[in-house]
Amino acid sequence: MDHFLYRDGVLHAEDVPLPAIAAAVGTPVYVYARATLTRHYRLFAEALDGLPHLICYAVKANGNLAVLKLLGDLGAGMDVVSGGEYARARAAGVPGSRIVFSGVGKTRAEMAQALAGGIRQFNVESEPELEALSEVAAGLGVEAPVALRLNPDVDARTHPKIATGGAETKFGIPMGQAVAVYTRAAALPGIRPVGLDLHIGSQLTDLAPYEQAYLRLAGLTRAMRAEGHRIDRLDLGGGLGIPYTRSNAVPPLPSEYGALVRRIFGDLDCEIEIEPGRLIAGNAGILLAAAIYVKPGAQRRFLILDAAMNDLIRPTMYDAHHDIVPVQEAAPGAETLPYDVVGPVCETGDIFARDRALPAMAPGDLVAFRSAGAYGAVMASEYNARPLVPEVLVDGDHFAVIRARPTFDAMLARDTIPEWLGPPGACAEPTGGADA
Ligand SMILES: *Cc1c(COP(=O)(O)O)cnc(C)c1O
Repeated sequence: MDHFLYRDGVLHAEDVPLPAIAAAVGTPVYVYARATLTRHYRLFAEALDGLPHLICYAVKANGNLAVLKLLGDLGAGMDVVSGGEYARARAAGVPGSRIVFSGVGKTRAEMAQALAGGIRQFNVESEPELEALSEVAAGLGVEAPVALRLNPDVDARTHPKIATGGAETKFGIPMGQAVAVYTRAAALPGIRPVGLDLHIGSQLTDLAPYEQAYLRLAGLTRAMRAEGHRIDRLDLGGGLGIPYTRSNAVPPLPSEYGALVRRIFGDLDCEIEIEPGRLIAGNAGILLAAAIYVKPGAQRRFLILDAAMNDLIRPTMYDAHHDIVPVQEAAPGAETLPYDVVGPVCETGDIFARDRALPAMAPGDLVAFRSAGAYGAVMASEYNARPLVPEVLVDGDHFAVIRARPTFDAMLARDTIPEWLGPPGACAEPTGGADA
């Protein structure tokens, strides 16, 4: 369930009509519903209620400071994958003791930053990383809490670009090496092994790969404990999928996922960490855009929007489907036409949907891309010098701009013309050969 519903024929975000946001902020713009973010966080909290646990929201899904602050205030920890995300989590007020640091390529600078600012654990993905962390922590005279990220070699049955639990991917340490690396970690200066970690992929629509990976993890935990290793925490990763269409099979619910976690880990006396991103933020956001032109092509009818692939890359990058709905609700039984929905960017790949059935559209009409709250704004760029798409958070009947659209001046001010190219301003007349 989300909080983007039609009322009196107009799509609302909670109690705010979307045309009001378009008028105040312009389009394209991302719009998030506080109520949905809160609800989704609570679903996970309820699913794990009774088990010692921490829900570490995956910042990479949507890292706006307002979103992090909202979730942090509900009690969430954060899963970060860069120094920038760590800085975001801290700036939103999340204490280091609730932040886990994931990712295959942490730099020494990022390690030092997190050790200085406070960190719950590093999820370490290789021996070279472990050695670097040992040097950095020992150099600072501190101990780095470490969970080893394991690669359980399971097929997550999701899009290849977001499957991370197969042996051929760059992620994690092969399970067969876990004991050796954990033993080594315990012996290294500045390292304190606290547990094991895995994350098998994103947009999982089936619990079977989780079950397979989690059974392996639980078995390994028992075996390692029997050999005298201390394992206090198990980080089970994120990845639970969301429905991107109304017609799709419904992915497992957090409650069903929670039941699986309890069944497999309930008697292990471990602190459980999970790292959901998409399920918390995905259906808590839409991308609001306006039609610029309806262009009759030689063979197809194009709906050209003011949003483009630089604002929402998922269709181009993952062949992802987003429902696209008119903000003014179509009359019941109204005729629909097939549109190819595209943006203004000069790339053939700048296409959101083919043959999408929509009511007759006209320039200025607003549409909403559903399920765009995760991996939307965070992946946006300024390609084609299109200013970074703004973000709005709705709370009941009011809203706030939580990231403003940069002006052209602000966008240009990030570039510098070096002095040796001459004074800024008018370009010199071309010399020689010009016959103007
Ligand atoms: C991306 C990622 C997540 C979040 O995945 P979702 O599909 O958004 O839940 C969690 N943990 C790690 C290590 C990740 O890389």
